[in-house]
Amino acid sequence: MKYAERPLIGISSCLVGQKVRYDGTAKRNSWLVDKFGKHVDYRPICPEMAIGMPTPRPPIRLVGTPERTRVLGVEDPSVDVTEKLEDFALNTAGQLQAVSGYVFMSKSPSCGMERVKLYNASGHAQKNGVGAYARVLMASLPNLPCEEEGRLNDPVLRENFVNRVYAYRRWQSLCAQGITASRLIEFHARHKYLVMVHSQAAYQRLGRLLSHLKGVDLGAVAGAYEAEFMTALKRRAGRKRHVNALQHIQGYLKKRIDGSDRQEMADSIEAYRREEVPLVVPMKLMRHYFRRNPDHYIDRQWYLDPYPETLGLRNTI
Ligand code: SF4
Repeated sequence: MKYAERPLIGISSCLVGQKVRYDGTAKRNSWLVDKFGKHVDYRPICPEMAIGMPTPRPPIRLVGTPERTRVLGVEDPSVDVTEKLEDFALNTAGQLQAVSGYVFMSKSPSCGMERVKLYNASGHAQKNGVGAYARVLMASLPNLPCEEEGRLNDPVLRENFVNRVYAYRRWQSLCAQGITASRLIEFHARHKYLVMVHSQAAYQRLGRLLSHLKGVDLGAVAGAYEAEFMTALKRRAGRKRHVNALQHIQGYLKKRIDGSDRQEMADSIEAYRREEVPLVVPMKLMRHYFRRNPDHYIDRQWYLDPYPETLGLRNTI
């Protein structure tokens, strides 16, 4: 079964409903818990609780500049938990090898990924801070797919995050089996269209990394491949590139379906290009034709089936 392995996702504890916030409340996110939670397992982490802060607790905030940020008490600025949060992030990063993604709580001085309020010496705030825990964790695990709860309301960002989580999970499975030249080449071939809808140039760079594998340090190649692969998937997948990929894949059906079916497929791709239907429409039709006319190469392309369809992510992009 394709998705037998449930990805493990690190998550801010308050998002799964744990009452760990400074005011003793939670921030349960129903999509994450009720929908995505059907397909993944969560590892909830509350860094503020982990460093010994009680609930409820006096609030903290970011103070300083983007280059030199401290995490201080709002009411009592002599309370400084910067080092504690950073040390906890470093320790936690070392324990997250099995995790395939991370969802942070927005706006938090500990967990916020971006645009967190950062106060200057005179008490004015700009939204240009990063939570102290999130900053160190993301720097320690640069290839780990990370996203914020607030940004996940955007269908494009949500689809992009889930896509990266499942792609990273597949990469982790490959690493767990042991890196060999043939496994790397197979991985690359199966992700051709999935990467190309994000960046054709990145797909070519990835191909060049694998072009001479005899006598090279495979560990170093795999490290470079992982970084390039995960960076490529972060880029927004454009509608034009989806259209190109669909038309290219349609070519494999050319001699196997009759003229009216070919026209129906072409019309569906065209309707998607004109933004009249979501991506799921041509995708479903394509899969239907390939079920009736299997093609070994296309069957193995993750692009047609990158994550559980019941998440409905391609209905909204
Ligand atoms: S945002 Fe982070 S630190 Fe704050 S309550 Fe949630 S998990 Fe804890």
